Amino acid sequence: MLTTHPFDDDKLREECGIFGVSGSDSAAALAALGLHALQHRGQEAAGITSFDGHLFHTHRAMGHVAGNFDRDEVIRSLPGTVAAGHVRYSTTGETALRNVQPLYADLATGGFAIAHNGNISNAMKLRRELVRRGSIFQSTSDTETIIHLVATSNYRTLLDRFIDALKQIEGAYSLIVMTPEGMIACRDPLGIRPLVMGRLDDAVIFASETVALDVCGATFERAVEPGEMVIVQGSEIRSIKPFAPVSPRPCIFEWVYFSRPDSIAGDHSVYSVRKEIGAQLAIEAPVEADLVIPVPDSGVPAAIGYAQQSGIPFELGIIRSHYVGRTFIQPGDKVRHLGVKLKHNANRALIAGKRVVLIDDSIVRGTTSLKIVQMMRDAGAAEVHMRIASPPTRHSCFYGVDTPERAKLLAAKLDLGGMTDFIHADSLAFVSIDGLYKALGEARRADIRPSYCDACFTGDYPTTLTDQDDTSVVDQFALLAERVN
Ligand code: SF4
Repeated sequence: MLTTHPFDDDKLREECGIFGVSGSDSAAALAALGLHALQHRGQEAAGITSFDGHLFHTHRAMGHVAGNFDRDEVIRSLPGTVAAGHVRYSTTGETALRNVQPLYADLATGGFAIAHNGNISNAMKLRRELVRRGSIFQSTSDTETIIHLVATSNYRTLLDRFIDALKQIEGAYSLIVMTPEGMIACRDPLGIRPLVMGRLDDAVIFASETVALDVCGATFERAVEPGEMVIVQGSEIRSIKPFAPVSPRPCIFEWVYFSRPDSIAGDHSVYSVRKEIGAQLAIEAPVEADLVIPVPDSGVPAAIGYAQQSGIPFELGIIRSHYVGRTFIQPGDKVRHLGVKLKHNANRALIAGKRVVLIDDSIVRGTTSLKIVQMMRDAGAAEVHMRIASPPTRHSCFYGVDTPERAKLLAAKLDLGGMTDFIHADSLAFVSIDGLYKALGEARRADIRPSYCDACFTGDYPTTLTDQDDTSVVDQFALLAERVN
């Protein structure tokens, strides 16, 4: 199989999106709509669990939301006024159906279903201890670690068991939990992964991004705060903050690439921030050129910002086909290399003889940038300058984002000159970390704790990385993933 999203393959990938609704007769249908709007956060599997007042019902499957939840009989098989859903992207080898969420557990205190966005950075250490005490794991998902911690907690109520479990966890989690008593939505104390809350008539809705509320016709009420647990029981809504308070550090990459541009994240329009990053880039790294060309689709807002700031005309120099699916069975080895053009093609008449500035959101391995620069040269560009709307990605993410190991990150291997040569550009520049913060309306100061997680650029991780620092644990996890799959 040939992936026909060649420009999307060399990106950091958000691994999950979550959605929950409580108090609607159309709970499962709303969850399907909401997950559809969150599809960009995870494209390999989708699941919805509903609760009808007596029983939980689940439909989970590999593939896109549209393919799995577009039939009436599937939605009808998920009755009840409460539902939670999950879209998942997972790395190769971990795509087993047993890892697809929501996960369900039956305890003596009652059953519950859980949808998780994030990654627990001490999951393996906790898992080892749980296994030693007799827990039997069914999946490689670190979410299952939460389930076992809840199951083995000595507290009486499910809520207290959850608080007890989450206090043992380090890393990133936004969670939606369904119990027979109601729904719990919660965000880790640093607020690394997003979670928002909205209303649709009498229903309360939680989602990874506001765009999922828009699609359901719900109104955005507020973000779930870092370290907050919102508990919905019928028409009653309670908020508690059971964790020790710390200064939040939400993932800055949500504004760079992960969130949809039509979402609002942390009081900022994602689209406006991306445009502002482009403007900063034009101030920091100007170049004499004839055209500003976005790498579609994620480079578009920053390219508009760059063009407006620099006065260089914005043009669509790369045209994207909207009729190509995510994957395509390649017709034969001889035409394999043509696949890249199925999805994106250079607008040759526009580019020939021009000095172009390409704007992209990030460089991960550099393989995509190399292809795009070559595409511009093949179309007759006189000069190709690359401008990147994020600082160099030099470190891996351990908080629920699929990143190649550090050794494969172009910016971890090469300096700016080396990267420019690697992608065959006439020049290359990245927005500075200060410029990125400026686009978010903040002055970054090196002497105080940053207000965002920016670890993939700076290496300044906001939590300890227990599993990562323990190489025996990392090896053990790789072995386990192999066995389970
Ligand atoms: S390391 Fe990067 S991608 Fe991961 S949470 Fe931090 S800023 Fe986001």
